[in-house]
Amino acid sequence: MRPQWVIGNWKMNGGLAANQALLAGVLDAARLVGSVRIGVSAPFPYLLQCQQMLGESSVVWGAQDISAEIGGAFTGEVSGAMLSDFDCGIVIVGHSERRIYHGESEGRVAEKALRAVENGMRPVFCIGETQAQHDAGETEAVLARQLSPLFVLLNDTRLAMVIVAYEPVWAIGTGKTPTPEGAQAVHRFIRTQLAAHGLADTLPVIYGGSVKPDNAARFFAQPDIDGGLIGGASLDAAEFLAIVKAAQ
Ligand code: PGA
Repeated sequence: MRPQWVIGNWKMNGGLAANQALLAGVLDAARLVGSVRIGVSAPFPYLLQCQQMLGESSVVWGAQDISAEIGGAFTGEVSGAMLSDFDCGIVIVGHSERRIYHGESEGRVAEKALRAVENGMRPVFCIGETQAQHDAGETEAVLARQLSPLFVLLNDTRLAMVIVAYEPVWAIGTGKTPTPEGAQAVHRFIRTQLAAHGLADTLPVIYGGSVKPDNAARFFAQPDIDGGLIGGASLDAAEFLAIVKAAQ
């Protein structure tokens, strides 16, 4: 039995005062539902606040991006070593919003995953097809292509640190989702890709894209779905708690 994960992706939302209330809600969720692994991915400026508020709890926290570089003259970048100064346990890499709006290539995303692992963090490695790719029946080919540089750059020991997040681009922030059975079939496919590395049965593969309190339980009940990466609904403490409960 793999543990279930529920990770909030706050995106570019929040503020010191609002986060204080939200993180208190996340702490309540962790106290109430000890069996679910809870994570928060906050904007960089709030990592100190996460460290201060979550430090004594079972909740893991981290950033939404990491530099592929190690350090030096890279204005605006944040390195893995900097994130580990704030005890980050996770970091999102390759979210479709970064791939699309910031031109992150498949190779670059895999390098970021490597930097995360080198600095002791679990990369939440996002993959997913666009609506056009979905309609053209290319989902499996797209996911295999997004995963392949990871298999080149990370040996099997490092790969064991990865959390894969399947996020169909057309489901993010849209209220549209695949059926739970449709998502399950894709997760099954992702596990076949992991099989060559001995990780098909152990690596967490979570689903993201319009997960809400009213649909979460149906996704989490699927045998190959190990929880969710939650955007919009992670900004509301009551909704986030309901989703964590659904993962129980
Ligand atoms: P959403 O976002 O839950 O708002 O669809 C998910 C994500 O982008 O990680």
